[in-house]
Amino acid sequence: MEGVEGIEEYCGQCGEPKTPGTTGHERCAARAELEPPRYCAQCRRRMVVQVLPQGWSARCVEHGTITG
Ligand SMILES: [Zn+2]
Ligand SMILES: [Zn+2]
Repeated sequence: MEGVEGIEEYCGQCGEPKTPGTTGHERCAARAELEPPRYCAQCRRRMVVQVLPQGWSARCVEHGTITG
């Protein structure tokens, strides 16, 4: 994929920048399998998370809603 859209700059679980070579997000990745992200990966804003019967949705005021 090309372009700015969809680039994950921040960890959705801990909100820390996902710079190349950064370690320590393995646990976040594991947790992301079970829990919705708390932070927008693109702008680090706190997201409004809703747990749904079939999964979850997380909304960033700037980047919209993602579901899982
Ligand atoms: Zn993390
Ligand atoms: Zn955002």
